[in-house]
Amino acid sequence: MKYQLGLLGSGISYSLSPYIHDEIFSYAGVDAEYKLYDIAPDNLDGEMARLKTLHGFNVTKPYKTRILDYLDEDLSGCGAVNTVCMREGKALGYNADGFGFYKSFCEGLCGKAYTRVLVLGAGGAARIVVKTLKEAGKQVYVKNRSAAAQAEICAEFGALPYDGHVPEVVVNCTSFGLKRGENPAADLPMHGLIYAYDLIYAPKETDFLLRAKKAGAATQNGLDMLVYQAVKADEHMLGIAFSDKSGLHGADDYAAVKKAVYARLKREGVDF
Ligand code: NDP
Repeated sequence: MKYQLGLLGSGISYSLSPYIHDEIFSYAGVDAEYKLYDIAPDNLDGEMARLKTLHGFNVTKPYKTRILDYLDEDLSGCGAVNTVCMREGKALGYNADGFGFYKSFCEGLCGKAYTRVLVLGAGGAARIVVKTLKEAGKQVYVKNRSAAAQAEICAEFGALPYDGHVPEVVVNCTSFGLKRGENPAADLPMHGLIYAYDLIYAPKETDFLLRAKKAGAATQNGLDMLVYQAVKADEHMLGIAFSDKSGLHGADDYAAVKKAVYARLKREGVDF
């Protein structure tokens, strides 16, 4: 049987996901195909029946919350779904972004000690990042442009509103950084910053990361997160289990897949 998977979104023709999933399927020895479903918001209702004939699909902007209306069960725990698995005709929703974020975040941090994390943003990505960091026992502060959204995310996940302290670790979960000149941390003190993480991966170094690097911090963009969330999504959709120890080929599956994906992106001429 050939598994049929894909990505639901709008304006996603630029997506790297087909390359990434292709490499995961090869590594796992699974016969599967991954297609883009670029669907305009007005057409989503009409296209949902076709999507539900797939074995599963990932979900990206602007549908991570709207997809909840079409699920039989939301197992994301955060009200934002990026992976839908079809099981015996039922649509089950998961969120693999938390896994992708935290694995890449910890790798980039390299075991450095810190006591608190400042999260910039309060949108869908910030929700899963704040939830994941809180579950990992971290002290989390949130700073967002809209005060109402900031208050809501703090109340829901037990985070604190940013109080002006000098941050040690900052995670940008806003979309403000996709263009040059955009920096959600332009007014933040950066002396003493040890680690800056940006969920954005294109550009590969946002103005936020460039400023943090100049201040002496280690930096990490969101490409590893994209790869790791894809692996976790495929674990859900294909019912396979990767391991970071002795995995499918006797080694760390995640590291091996990441290596294969980066080699593929290089072959495809992607600047990362
Ligand atoms: P949302 O649209 O849900 O949230 C956007 C956030 O950015 C809000 O907090 C919003 O603040 C803030 N924001 C937008 N414009 C500005 C601005 N001009 N100044 C300050 N803040 C601003 O987006 P998502 O949470 O889904 O995604 C956020 C980013 O994370 C995107 O760039 C996305 O590509 C990236 N991402 C990366 C992933 C990866 O695997 N690497 C996975 C998921 C997301 P306000 O509430 O005030 O509007």
